[in-house]
Amino acid sequence: MTEQASYHMTAAEFRQHGRAVVDWIADYMEKVESLPVLSQVQPGEIRAALPAAAPKQGEAFATMLADVDRLILPGITHWQSPNFFAYFPANASGPAILGELLSAGLGVQGMLWATSPACTELETHMLDWLVAMLDLPQKFLSTTNGGGVIQDSASSAVLCALLAARERATQFATNQQGCDGRLIVYTSSQTHSSLEKAAMIAGIGRAQIRLIDVDEHLAMQPASLAAAIEQDRAQGLIPCFVVASVGTTSSNAIDPVAAIGQICQAQGVWLHVDAAMAGTAALCPELRWIHAGVDLADSYCFNPHKWMFTNFDCDCFWVADRAALIGALSILPEYLRNQATESGAVIDYRDWQIPLGRRFRALKLWFVIRHYGVEGLRHHIRQHVALAQTFAAWVQADPNFEVAAPVPLNLVCFRHRGGDALNQQLMDQLNHSGQLYLTHTRLRGKLTLRMSIGQTHTTARHVVSAWQAIQTQAETLSAAAD
Ligand code: PLP
Repeated sequence: MTEQASYHMTAAEFRQHGRAVVDWIADYMEKVESLPVLSQVQPGEIRAALPAAAPKQGEAFATMLADVDRLILPGITHWQSPNFFAYFPANASGPAILGELLSAGLGVQGMLWATSPACTELETHMLDWLVAMLDLPQKFLSTTNGGGVIQDSASSAVLCALLAARERATQFATNQQGCDGRLIVYTSSQTHSSLEKAAMIAGIGRAQIRLIDVDEHLAMQPASLAAAIEQDRAQGLIPCFVVASVGTTSSNAIDPVAAIGQICQAQGVWLHVDAAMAGTAALCPELRWIHAGVDLADSYCFNPHKWMFTNFDCDCFWVADRAALIGALSILPEYLRNQATESGAVIDYRDWQIPLGRRFRALKLWFVIRHYGVEGLRHHIRQHVALAQTFAAWVQADPNFEVAAPVPLNLVCFRHRGGDALNQQLMDQLNHSGQLYLTHTRLRGKLTLRMSIGQTHTTARHVVSAWQAIQTQAETLSAAAD
């Protein structure tokens, strides 16, 4: 047989170009602070600069990499800039990026234990490590009836939890016959919109979500929850799922999980705790109060891809009763049958998530945890929390501004006293300047700015400059309005 022509990249070429890419990323890390944080391009600008059709002949790698600088970088909003204070962080770090690269290099599809035992076992082990690192309840350990799994996102976690709750509430009949329309879900108005989407996907319907009142700190009122559940039961409905938030997206409000959990236990309703961003804080013993009551949860999730230096995507999700989750999601077609699965001695994570296929995400988590160590992670989380508290104190001390919600951790909700229009202009102008990036929410009807501090390389210097920019811009706007 003659050797066939090949267009593949050889190992030698990969070595050469791979080094160039790593150098490119290291250069990016060094210069990202100087780039405009929010991309300044107009809609369609990036596409207009791209060739209309795919190349017929392969191109040189150096040309591609040069085009990343020329065509792509202008259209990047720099989430990894230390001046990124928008939304919640999606921070990253050297060890996480390298773990991701190795995962791509191995190219593993870890749907079953048998399709790469290390992919499954490292994941199980990392999720057990994290139970100890965050001091989560022992019932989430893989050595119990529970266990943890990595999902792509907190949105997938809440959907999986809802499906398990739905099946538990209907003795696994819904998967067979479809929804009977009596299932009810409870949460507060402050809960992330992913629950609404999950209710749509799960066939429960958004009209079946009861939005429970919040108190003056924007945390769910347990008495209102109890009353709503009672009322629904009296009408023959089936309360099935409650979501409590540890750190809401708008304001980082922390629901009273212990009181909510007692109601859920008494009523036999599944409690899911969503700590997508804030959960990372529990690495620090002095911040573990945020998890009070999580021992009463049926499921819990947090996102290392938000605040724990692990690049997107990586959501850690635990259940107390893995049988409920697996019972809701498991199917076993003939082509996936194998001895390890039949033996019952292994975990097949395909049964713990929506898709069949899955990436080797545990590798980057392993690298992050080993690179920083628990103490290293705590050090940086404490710094972010301290910076946010300092920022809140500056806001409070300025008569033109007010802090708009409690600041339990690393998010400061604040506003200029000049009203919505001024705050909108202030935010738009700051973001347009490229110097920093802030986003907003609406709290009790008022436009509110959010200073979210959690990017890997944010230090006091960046927060000082941000506050100076905010004050200066606000003075200019107020003077123009006078
Ligand atoms: N839950 C909370 C509290 C969030 O803040 C977010 C996103 O910011 C989500 C869920 C959704 O996260 P993901 O992008 O991982 O689905």
